[in-house]
Amino acid sequence: KNHINSSRNNRRYAKILMSTNEIIRNFSIIAHIDHGKSTLADRLIHKCGGLTDREMKEQVLDSMDIERERGITIKAQTVRLNYKAKDGKNYTLNIIDTPGHVDFSYEVSRSLSACEGSILIVDSTQGVEAQTLANVYQALDNNHEIIPVLNKIDLPAADTDKVKKQIEDVIGIDTSNTINCSGKTGEGVDDILESIIKNLPSPKGNPGNPLKCLLVDSWYDSYLGVVILVRVIDGSLKKGMQIKMMSNNTRHVIEKVGVFTPKPKDVDKISSGEIGFIITGIRNLSDTKVGDTICDVANPIDKPLPGFKPSKPVVFCGLFPVDNSEYQKLKDGLAKLKLNDSSFSYEPESSSALGLGFRCGFLGLLHLEIVTQRLEREFDINLITTTPGVIYKINKRDGSVKELQNPTDMPDPTQILSIEEPWIKATIITPDEYLGSIIKICQDKRGIQNNLTYSGNRVVLSYELPLNEVVFDFYDRLKSISSGYASFDYEITGYKEGNLVKMGILVNAEPVDALSMIIYKDFAQSQGSLVCEKLKELIPKHNFQIPIQAAIGGKIIARETIKGFKKDVLTKIHGGGARDRKRKLLDKQKKGKARAKQFGRVEIPQEAFIGVLKINKET
Ligand code: GDP
Ligand code: MG
Repeated sequence: KNHINSSRNNRRYAKILMSTNEIIRNFSIIAHIDHGKSTLADRLIHKCGGLTDREMKEQVLDSMDIERERGITIKAQTVRLNYKAKDGKNYTLNIIDTPGHVDFSYEVSRSLSACEGSILIVDSTQGVEAQTLANVYQALDNNHEIIPVLNKIDLPAADTDKVKKQIEDVIGIDTSNTINCSGKTGEGVDDILESIIKNLPSPKGNPGNPLKCLLVDSWYDSYLGVVILVRVIDGSLKKGMQIKMMSNNTRHVIEKVGVFTPKPKDVDKISSGEIGFIITGIRNLSDTKVGDTICDVANPIDKPLPGFKPSKPVVFCGLFPVDNSEYQKLKDGLAKLKLNDSSFSYEPESSSALGLGFRCGFLGLLHLEIVTQRLEREFDINLITTTPGVIYKINKRDGSVKELQNPTDMPDPTQILSIEEPWIKATIITPDEYLGSIIKICQDKRGIQNNLTYSGNRVVLSYELPLNEVVFDFYDRLKSISSGYASFDYEITGYKEGNLVKMGILVNAEPVDALSMIIYKDFAQSQGSLVCEKLKELIPKHNFQIPIQAAIGGKIIARETIKGFKKDVLTKIHGGGARDRKRKLLDKQKKGKARAKQFGRVEIPQEAFIGVLKINKET
């Protein structure tokens, strides 16, 4: 009798547990940049009472200043909401916000793995873009249910029928449950909430099983310390519990369990199907491995979850302080930034031209730009950034293979058998009027066309391209040639042999290592001329003649000369207010000095380095 009772109790218990999962929906919002993801997330937070009106700043999810300024979301964020649906039940909704830019697609895939569904936002005035496509494929890889949402229907240019057809043609997903909405006016937002309840699956898993938990993300918070974002698959996490990281068997005691509302809020426990955070004794971010499986020391499991591929930097450049005395400051700054961004790498580098600095690796150019901007802004360091490059594989005559990410480490050409470079598969989506110009850019960049398809007047182009060429200025050119209408996404496909050489730059016969680059041989001549011309423009006259040369090995391929001048700059200033102007000029020179580097007898201002880097954006 007892036995029957307990099994009945168990069954009843299982039913209660089931129903706790049934009221949960975990989803991401995916969209091409600017299609309205953050705006919709704000609406949902506002509607579901996560914050008071006073706390409701615009775009609460984009917490870093720099994100707010650039209007992009960098670090994925999570919010738990409470929603009372039309069926009368109270649901828990977890939104995982994802970054939209191509550089951060790794973070997108990470966030997607922690939930069961996606809201796919497409701007109904723009249509399907390259990241829309990439994000949908990632969502489908994670077995997500997808709710298509056509946003910005308040705008006169909205064409929901056309965009719906595009979604069918280009992406090929079912659009029968599409919702038209405006994140701005709030129209359609209730329908989205109801559709989430109706169409997205509740998480599977069993709270009665031993703990199985995914480490989704981790970051350093100045108040909380190392915060670990988790998705509980089975079992539950409680304060005081001893847990084990399955990748390295380290044990930790949980000091705090919480959820983001979006403010961090302590809770007793988080259980199967839920998303939340834990704080443990871990002080160092490198002790938390994203994608790791967490289990209970008292009740361990055998098999960890599949985990993620670690993100790998693909674009490299040197960062040097303009003023050598700021080296320590730069070092500290990098260490601090690294706390919150495990995806970039850095190691000390010394350059004869620029002194001590760091070789840094990034997920892409935007990522590079963001990190350098944060260093300059948050740590007040003047930086020189060297030409960005990729990782080359050098096959040497002695049979060895060298991975090269710094042109200055290039072996002597006589030792080299061949050089391989990384290639990407790029997807470009554009209105057809720009097609000709875009094909031209791709050809200029050594691209090979794979595919071309139309949906109405929109074209989906698929190209294979060398990453090195894309790193230079591809994205900027694409945007400017299409007035911003073409979009672009890529994935790295592998390495291919290329006819590549190292081009060095000499100023007054001194090699300036920071300006050397690895380049496709056929492009060296024109690129070398451009660099020399630019340097001639940007290096001020000295009182002697300065030759500027581009060279491959010992062979000079381009040359310019800066003529010497003799007169003192100040003797030219006469007349009213001359003293004032003289002082201003001297001040300006002094300031210029602080941001210049000495090469032998020649002083090269920081602007010259930056100018050379920008050449690629202007051609
Ligand atoms: P995200 O990059 O996808 O996060 O896009 P945001 O939410 O930052 O929105 C990009 C821009 O579109 C912002 O200027 C928003 O104010 C605007 N926006 C977003 N949703 C709507 C909408 O429904 N209607 C209109 N008119 N503008 C919108
Ligand atoms: Mg955003």
